[in-house]
Amino acid sequence: MASDASRADSGRLAEETITGAQIIVRALKAQGIEYMFGIVGIPIIEVAFAAQAAGIKYIGMRNEQAACYAASAVGYLTGRPGVCLVVSGPGLINALSGMANANMNCWPVLVVGGSSDRNQETMGAFQEFPQVEACRLYSKFSARPSSLEAIPSIIEKAVRSSIYGRPGACYVDIPGDFVNSHVNKTSVRYVECCLSPPICLAEASAVSEATSVLMNARRPLLIVGKGAAYSRAERSIRKLVDQCGLPFLPTPMGKGVVPDNHLNCVSAARSSALLNADVIVLLGARLNWILHFGLPPRFQPDVNIIQVDICAEELGNNVKPAVCLLGDVNAVTEQLLEQLGKQSWRYPSSSVWWDDLKKKMKLNEENSKALAMQNSLPMNYYVAFHHIKALLPQDCILVSEGANTMDIGRTIIQNYQPRHRLDAGTFGTMGVGLGFAIAAAMVARDQNPEQRVVCVEGDSAFGFSGMEVETICRYNLPVLIIVLNNNGIYSGFDENTWKEMLTWGDPALVAPPLSLIPNARYEQVMSSFGGKGYFVQTPEELQDALKASLADRATPSLINVIIDPRSERKKQDFPWLTRSNM
Ligand code: ADP
Ligand code: MG
Repeated sequence: MASDASRADSGRLAEETITGAQIIVRALKAQGIEYMFGIVGIPIIEVAFAAQAAGIKYIGMRNEQAACYAASAVGYLTGRPGVCLVVSGPGLINALSGMANANMNCWPVLVVGGSSDRNQETMGAFQEFPQVEACRLYSKFSARPSSLEAIPSIIEKAVRSSIYGRPGACYVDIPGDFVNSHVNKTSVRYVECCLSPPICLAEASAVSEATSVLMNARRPLLIVGKGAAYSRAERSIRKLVDQCGLPFLPTPMGKGVVPDNHLNCVSAARSSALLNADVIVLLGARLNWILHFGLPPRFQPDVNIIQVDICAEELGNNVKPAVCLLGDVNAVTEQLLEQLGKQSWRYPSSSVWWDDLKKKMKLNEENSKALAMQNSLPMNYYVAFHHIKALLPQDCILVSEGANTMDIGRTIIQNYQPRHRLDAGTFGTMGVGLGFAIAAAMVARDQNPEQRVVCVEGDSAFGFSGMEVETICRYNLPVLIIVLNNNGIYSGFDENTWKEMLTWGDPALVAPPLSLIPNARYEQVMSSFGGKGYFVQTPEELQDALKASLADRATPSLINVIIDPRSERKKQDFPWLTRSNM
């Protein structure tokens, strides 16, 4: 039993000193951090408790990958990084997926990782791993504070690095022996919240040059990327589209910066718009695989690119730009507007270019409509999406991943608001969906409680992080998950064919690698944790399930939609990334 004297001693110690865990969360709080996602274990359990005590919301996840995806989605949605808290070794290694994904997407995230005690370094300590070094490849900044007193300044630097310049991932390593060590309170100096990122403008002469290139365009096109969404350029880009009468094409996560139902949106003529444009204003999007590198056969060989980006190193990647506008998309768009406004320039709506685009859009829309009208069962993707589109609230945050599910869904489901679509992104990562949905639901709960989060998943994609359904139910987040279930990766087989194949021999030798169990009952994952599950096979059942789950704002739900495993994408003009003929 502790003596009175020793109890008094420990009371005085707590009053005069502060632990490493408390310093970490005070420093995070000082930098405006609101959300922390993670999985606790040795040595960071106390950090999670301290975070809650300091008013930082802590969401315990089921896998560090999903935790890190969630933290990065907070960064994209709010412009301040979410924190991912992980244990040493394997915990940190799992989080690397999320750091890589965030860095590829140019989204801010801060990973805080516990590591083994300093006095056991190189001795084969529990979960020992060179964590700072490992994170370097996946981040903009990776460091370990040299002492407890150094924690606040390292955390400020990590937060600042994550949002300044091109946003990305940052890592702070916390040796286990830091967490419960004490130092005198007066010896710790907290660093004030870093300023919002400075807004950079493009060089004035480059802006003039860009406007003259644009005004001489015969077939102009604006491409709106997720950098534009991140920079909150919705008002200025909308104005540019309206004031100048320009056609625009959003990238997958650029959707909604200007609403998809705007008359100038040429998504339905995407290939043709890219192929024939002679001047492209590239607003916060990279000429990577998503935009076919900006090269023939998908683009004109002599296309003039006016490239707007915050990252100087990005300018000129794959295509030499006609004009480089280095700066913040929103601010640079305002600069362009001012110049173009002075000359009252407007691209004529009576041009051959507009006629061509409109003809092509009509044709493509009719093709999709025809597919959506098929009434055979099981449903094809187009039929399922037709009903989903009709019933989703316009302001919902849509999360989507999967191969066919994401690709077809993107062409049918419209986005009306910026930063309302989260998907597999630049890195094409499957498994992001549930983490993103959890983050979006947390942010929505604080900023716009009426808003719904809808997560449209392929059956394979759902499997990567399906256990996060428990997280959704534990925090009672009213997320609606829709699983489009075609029995496999890309596509599987119907039940009878599957059963017959199993008679051919050892499944490990004969089962097609693309296959998953036919008609798997994914909705039961949701009902097993107390949410609502729906198994639907017909359009009527789908409509009923959608109406019921959207009406119930208090309960998470999962609708498992059986899709014809033979249902495919409509024929594409270019077989890009669909070249596998399986
Ligand atoms: P998408 O996938 O939509 O094509 P990318 O992620 O490829 O978009 O490109 C986004 C680009 O936006 C990146 O090159 C990034 O540097 C840039 N970016 C990010 N934030 C800003 C900003 N505030 N202003 C300008 N560019 C930005
Ligand atoms: Mg599938």
